[in-house]
Amino acid sequence: MKSPYAVQVFDLLHRPGEMRERELDITVPEGFGNAVIGVPTGAQLHIDLRMESLHDGILVSAEVDGEAVGECVRCLIEMRIPLEVELQELFAYSQDEAFEYEVQDDTIDLEPVVRDAVVLSLPFQPVCQEDCLGLCPQCGVRLLDNPGHEHEAPVDPRWAALAGLAGETGESAEDVDGAENNGATEEKR
Ligand SMILES: [Zn+2]
Ligand SMILES: [Zn+2]
Repeated sequence: MKSPYAVQVFDLLHRPGEMRERELDITVPEGFGNAVIGVPTGAQLHIDLRMESLHDGILVSAEVDGEAVGECVRCLIEMRIPLEVELQELFAYSQDEAFEYEVQDDTIDLEPVVRDAVVLSLPFQPVCQEDCLGLCPQCGVRLLDNPGHEHEAPVDPRWAALAGLAGETGESAEDVDGAENNGATEEKR
């Protein structure tokens, strides 16, 4: 099956000065992103594409619009951020190592270019809002949803551990009161 990222460019090949504009609507066949946020499989990407024929190859300029889905690294709530990524790459005719991307037959494959540009634009530490307070370290509720949330008698687990430790190493004086039981038996006559 043809990749939705593949674009035919036969009408541009070796015609320096020619230019085409196209719009692509892609249903992402395989999701991509970093560990915490990305474009999921099945998401929609809209690509405004401009292709210019040069002597060396075809210069592609594109704007990619879509949505990334992930979770806030502090409070773990699902979050969606709009994507608006611009890129520009040359797809070369020659298989010279100097060029990262090549025109293959009469086609250019935008997938690696789009993926790289989008992944680069993604935040590594996405937060639902700048002042997200995260989760309560004691009970795990989301603090933004529970303003003023606090616990009656907060017991710091470190204090609890220390208290336990002190009890264990407390001197346990050995009882040496060997109460000798002299069976004081009174002999009665
Ligand atoms: Zn958050
Ligand atoms: Zn709590």
